[in-house]
Amino acid sequence: MEKKKEAKRNLVEKNKLRQLPSVDNLLREEQMQAFLKEHSRTMVTDVVREVLNQLRWEWQQEALGEQEAGEKEGTGFQERDLIVSQIIVRVEKHLKHRQQLNLKPVINATGVILHTNLGRALLGKNALKALHQVATHYSNLELDLATGKRGSRYAHLEELLSLLTGAEASLVVNNNAAAVLLALNTLARDREVIVSRGQLVEIGGSFRIPEVMSQSGAYLREVGTTNKTYPHDYRQAINEKTALLLRVHTSNYRIIGFTQETTLEELVSLGQEKGLPVMEDLGSGQLLDLHKWGLPVEPLVPDSIRVGVDIVTFSGDKLLGGPQAGLIVGKKKYIEPMKKNPLNRALRIDKLTLAALEATLKEYLNQERVIKTIPTLRMLTTSGADLRKKADSLATKLTAVGMEGLEVSVKSGFSTVGGGSMPGTEIPTWLVTLKTSQISAATLAERLRHQSWPVLVRIGEEQIILDVRTVEETEFDVLVEGIKSSL
Ligand SMILES: *Cc1c(COP(=O)(O)O)cnc(C)c1O
Repeated sequence: MEKKKEAKRNLVEKNKLRQLPSVDNLLREEQMQAFLKEHSRTMVTDVVREVLNQLRWEWQQEALGEQEAGEKEGTGFQERDLIVSQIIVRVEKHLKHRQQLNLKPVINATGVILHTNLGRALLGKNALKALHQVATHYSNLELDLATGKRGSRYAHLEELLSLLTGAEASLVVNNNAAAVLLALNTLARDREVIVSRGQLVEIGGSFRIPEVMSQSGAYLREVGTTNKTYPHDYRQAINEKTALLLRVHTSNYRIIGFTQETTLEELVSLGQEKGLPVMEDLGSGQLLDLHKWGLPVEPLVPDSIRVGVDIVTFSGDKLLGGPQAGLIVGKKKYIEPMKKNPLNRALRIDKLTLAALEATLKEYLNQERVIKTIPTLRMLTTSGADLRKKADSLATKLTAVGMEGLEVSVKSGFSTVGGGSMPGTEIPTWLVTLKTSQISAATLAERLRHQSWPVLVRIGEEQIILDVRTVEETEFDVLVEGIKSSL
């Protein structure tokens, strides 16, 4: 059998494949010349070779298939022009594909505001403007304009962060995981860090407190139990090797029932008594109390500083609503050595992030307006009435297109915060649901994901669920178009 196939393959090679034009010949075609005006010669040549190989392979498979099915040999003659035009169509498609970006925008109709897989927080207009400016012009990134001497990239945020959090010093790194790593490495390398067993958090993407601790070179000293840790548990664990008392905000889970957490005040007072710094990893790190908007009370960064925590770390792209970053705020005597730590050079924030972060933080100076200017806060606080209007408007658009067999309805439901923030919190929202008679909800969801502007949805009760909370009105047309071409 294998021998027969081999013989067949040889025959195909000899006859049909001989009809394939050479790369050089193809490149002389008028259409190819047009491609060469837009793309480099190397790329076009490369793509032509790829297409020729592909055709060769397909023809061989075809010939083998025909033989197995007992059909007559597939070595028939095809007009050269036909083959060439077939190749050109494919080359054009491949060239287009190579030009397309892999990382691209998607429509998030899941209602999960800080969707980790979909890039967490969106930037506001001013953040984008700042990012664009700094990206397209030189900047004073590490230049002190007052003296003309070398400056620090961290200086740009220091005053602003002091104002917003009450802390005397700050440092910003690549993300919060890096912030925790840098802080532990600087303050507790080769020494012990005391943490409650109820706070040994794992965050998505392999951030786990025990592992970050060992990476940092510090030793984890667990105290208490999963549900109860008292101040005396910390006190008993303190010894000459202790470097730090760490509290981790259980940002993505809750321990409820028979529980006891040592309060921040108790920890701070123990730290002061023993001359040990207290650090808090806040995770999300909110700057604005969202209680007014019916959202759960989350610890605020300024509250921790006020209580006397020495170092607080938090993310830039969770509830803060900025770019990916890790913020470290607190006492100067602990933060200065972090800036000088060689590890910081590897974790440092880049200028684009810095620009977007400064502009995002500036929005917080206007506490009345900030819930409108920062997309994450806007989505979290959109009123039920506005969401209803949005859902109605989307449903109207969908109905107006008149897609056969598509049932569109509007109903109430819930959005979630995501990003390991505010676990278990469900925010009332309005949904547009789609039901089709021709295809299943799962098939429709899959097709929506394959659109050139992919659409991500929820599925429930055999229906597609679109949560308008995380969809901008300006995206409605793309969304409707995506649904139309998916049916
Ligand atoms: C999210 C989170 C982190 C990690 O932050 P990144 O910015 O994703 O690196 C660390 N600690 C806690 C408590 C978190 O919630």
